[in-house]
Amino acid sequence: MNYPFFSRNGTLLSSTEAVIPLDNIEYTYGFGVYETVRVVKGEARFLSDHSARLMNSASIINLEHPFTIDTVMQAAEALIEKNEIESCNLKILLIGSRTKDSANLYIECLAPLYPDRKLYSQGAKAITRQYERFLPQAKTLNMLGSYLAYKEAKSQDAYDALLVNNEGYITEGTRTNFFAIKGNDLFSAPEKDILLGVTRNHVIKVAEANSFKIVERNIKPGELKDYDGAFLTSTSTKIMPLISVDDFTWLEIPAQTKLLMQKFSEQY
Ligand code: PLP
Repeated sequence: MNYPFFSRNGTLLSSTEAVIPLDNIEYTYGFGVYETVRVVKGEARFLSDHSARLMNSASIINLEHPFTIDTVMQAAEALIEKNEIESCNLKILLIGSRTKDSANLYIECLAPLYPDRKLYSQGAKAITRQYERFLPQAKTLNMLGSYLAYKEAKSQDAYDALLVNNEGYITEGTRTNFFAIKGNDLFSAPEKDILLGVTRNHVIKVAEANSFKIVERNIKPGELKDYDGAFLTSTSTKIMPLISVDDFTWLEIPAQTKLLMQKFSEQY
């Protein structure tokens, strides 16, 4: 860890004291949920949204624990203050256990990794991979399928892999939400099939305030040519325009995507 302190169950500890108990099956089986929160100018962005989603993810996988939205927020804010952080990514990990009271809440600071700036002007490349996340509305440590798809994207010099479900529809990226755009209409996969991204929610609010319409629609990779463009959203990405998906390339990033990027940046 690059930062001197981390938080365990609300207690601030030196990073040198961080250990993983190898005899605990919940760690080795990845029975946990997590969040990544962007800290900018010492402020954890959308911390209440992330804390609420952490609680929701835990409840979806039936992970019992003694923590609340408030305890998570207080622990995160105390860590930011103790580490005197201006900017970082906060990783919040809630690991389950056999008993409710032995669940563990860890918060650590990681160096922020932001995308190459030129991708925002040129558009990023994506590939597609067949994979359906288990319990998609939960952000869990069950990351193997997403990890392998992302690794494949990187090996093809792509920004992310779009996950295609068993019916052949694009759901989301491995760590991003996906939108297609046509005129002022934004198309997103049905909410039951995706992680409800914190950024996605705020992008939708900005879009609706600027006369965009949000439509739930299942889209196959082969249908992307019928749209003006597409983009990804996430905490680290904000809005990333796509220029290509597999072998299909759009001629340009649509003016409406650029407008939405600008409006979102003005607000956040
Ligand atoms: N979809 C998946 C599968 C993710 O893992 C993530 C983030 O890690 C997102 C979407 C984007 O969510 P957020 O905007 O809350 O970062």
